[in-house]
Amino acid sequence: MKPETIAIHTAQPIDPATGAIVPPIVLSTTFERAPDGTFPADYEYARDNNPNREALEKVMMKLEQGTKAFAWASGSVAMMSVFQALSPNDHVLAPTDLYHGIRVMLLELFVPWGLSVDFVDMTDLNAVEETIRPETRLLVLESPSNPQMLIANISALADLAHANNAYLVVDNTIATPIFQTPLTLGADFVVHATTKYLGGHSDVMGGMLVAREHNPIVEKLEFIRTIGGAIPAPFSCWLTLRGIQTLAHRMRFHAENAQTIAEHLESHSAIEAVLYPGLSSHPSHSLANQQMSGFSGVLSVLVKGGSEKALSIIANLQVILRATSFGGTHTLVEHRASIPNSTAPDNLLRFSIGLEHVDDLIADLHQALDK
Ligand SMILES: *Cc1c(COP(=O)(O)O)cnc(C)c1O
Repeated sequence: MKPETIAIHTAQPIDPATGAIVPPIVLSTTFERAPDGTFPADYEYARDNNPNREALEKVMMKLEQGTKAFAWASGSVAMMSVFQALSPNDHVLAPTDLYHGIRVMLLELFVPWGLSVDFVDMTDLNAVEETIRPETRLLVLESPSNPQMLIANISALADLAHANNAYLVVDNTIATPIFQTPLTLGADFVVHATTKYLGGHSDVMGGMLVAREHNPIVEKLEFIRTIGGAIPAPFSCWLTLRGIQTLAHRMRFHAENAQTIAEHLESHSAIEAVLYPGLSSHPSHSLANQQMSGFSGVLSVLVKGGSEKALSIIANLQVILRATSFGGTHTLVEHRASIPNSTAPDNLLRFSIGLEHVDDLIADLHQALDK
């Protein structure tokens, strides 16, 4: 089945008790044993498993074409669990342009815990190869990266990781499985902040990890989750799965709006550069074309002038909202350099292009840029 159909039909059967076509939310934390001590439906305790979580995992496993999926309470804890599955003295290679929270997590939590970490430009394969060490166990990649929209070669990095006895984990939050399936390019794990496009409406937090095949990390993740319990609530799983039903259609519209806006902004005199993989001016446009089938709805612009100019532009916006995060229906803008620990340039504005009519968004951008 195609993603549009998987999203609607996989693991969401008609409820046998009522005939409801929308699955009920199961809030029970505990499930009764049969007289012989077994569990009739295989559910025992909600930290171990829950029907809403299981349905969400099955859909994500199919969409990402993996063999095992784990739903987590946030995108951050999905990634954190991968680091926890490593051992002290292991070495991690992470990208220089990395979601700032994951960067802080590595430096402040996992370096003291015993991991060693290097940050390297993942678009430079020679630099990656030179930074790999015998203790390197994990390569972390975001492609497209947040917020600089860098594109790295997923299959080349997977080969490099495997030749060095390491795993490759790809944060696929921006592309989503509609536009990119890293496991089919050789990555070992895909991670998502489902808080973004998968939920899709800025109203539910969650994370997801999908593994290409069984391996010792998968085994450890199972243990970490059951013993730690960083799980999403049943209602969060239900909302995320509802969002996924329209994912393919939303993604095409996000991408179409973003492409139109990127092309418009590129020719505006107040803009120094537009960072969007769908533009032929993007340094990795042809690589993006090879490994992605669309370019999603996040784009960044570098404005002429510094921080002050960037902040004054967004102060004048009337339709576009000044808020963090991305992937929802509303168009959002953020001055990333204002966030503590961000490594974003001073004049960078990151836009999450929403599902409003593109003419209204362009009009809003023009009135703010021309003021
Ligand atoms: C938002 C985000 C995260 C963190 O996810 P949360 O659900 O906010 O914890 C990780 N990676 C990327 C690329 C993100 O955009």
